[in-house]
Amino acid sequence: MKKYLFIDRDGTLVSEPEDHQVDAVSKVRFVPQVIPALLTLKQAGWTLVMVSNQDGLGTSSFPLETFTPAHEFILQTLSSQGIEFEQVLICPHKPEDHCACRKPELGLVMAYLKDASWDREHSYFIGDRETDLQMGANMGIKALRLKDPQALEPCTDPDALTWDEIAELLTRRQRITTVERHTKETQIKVSVNLDESGHNAFNTGIGFFDHMLDQIAVHGGFSLTVEAHGDLEVDAHHTIEDTGIVLGQALKEALLDKRGIGRFGFALPMDEVYALVFADSVNEDPADKTAVALDISGRPYSVLNFKGRFTESMVGDFPTQMTEHFFASLAVSMGLTLHMQVTEGNCHHQIEALFKAFGRALRRAIAVSGSELPSSKGAL
Ligand SMILES: [Mg+2]
Ligand SMILES: [Zn+2]
Repeated sequence: MKKYLFIDRDGTLVSEPEDHQVDAVSKVRFVPQVIPALLTLKQAGWTLVMVSNQDGLGTSSFPLETFTPAHEFILQTLSSQGIEFEQVLICPHKPEDHCACRKPELGLVMAYLKDASWDREHSYFIGDRETDLQMGANMGIKALRLKDPQALEPCTDPDALTWDEIAELLTRRQRITTVERHTKETQIKVSVNLDESGHNAFNTGIGFFDHMLDQIAVHGGFSLTVEAHGDLEVDAHHTIEDTGIVLGQALKEALLDKRGIGRFGFALPMDEVYALVFADSVNEDPADKTAVALDISGRPYSVLNFKGRFTESMVGDFPTQMTEHFFASLAVSMGLTLHMQVTEGNCHHQIEALFKAFGRALRRAIAVSGSELPSSKGAL
């Protein structure tokens, strides 16, 4: 699907002069980094459309003879650098004309709005003014405010971005994946988005397990959906085990090359039990601690060192034994080094504390800051 960047001209592609009229070639100053940014965005698949208000164009206050040479110079310069616009849409009216095409009115882009074939989700309106943001909203697409570092009046909008930042934001790699696995015993589909939270849905047929998966997502700070259809008429074993495998695979895939991640993890109390997640390994006395230690090591011999004793065999429809088995399956498929301990207590609390602690550990371990690979070996 085609995706568009609808882009304002003055204050966005070229800096706005004091009198707000770019009516001479000598008044054209390109906004810093606009050309490399637009080339990056073009490379990433966006089609560009210019949408500009030119108040009173063609009247004595702004004759075409002064507008056209500067406008042609802008288009020609950009074109010579590989930046072309599919359309250049201009409203020549003044506010008092009350036309239907002055941004944020939709007249200029009506043909685009009538065309249902392009990708609204990944298209943007980019401009320096409130009316540009409003235009994006009116079109039903996201809008970004451009911050021109050489603007005469510095932009005060804290959300405004330079062209460099816009190119970075829109081309940042998406830590999103969906993994499906079908066997005779189970059909499982897991989707994760590590860079957004709150879009969770679980349907495994095992109520308590859905509740536990929700703990991982909520405390992990990422979005997770799990759809599992397993042989529950046998028991919950395959469904829980295979969900662990597929979830591990999805998390591993979504981490991409793991650049910039935290890798290790932390601690969480819950009622009479508590869970700890340390960096790399557990050195706590197993007699009095609940602990989860996690390392996204990628090592093929990932260890699950589970120390916990459950006094009940079931919590709701969930066999307590499957706690260890679930995390073991996940650790192997994700390439995790994982240590878990839980103190004795109410089994629901024990298991929930482990799932929450795992989520918290994961939150730290998957959080990105910078682009370094967190390993002296240069690989994870
Ligand atoms: Mg503007
Ligand atoms: Zn108009």
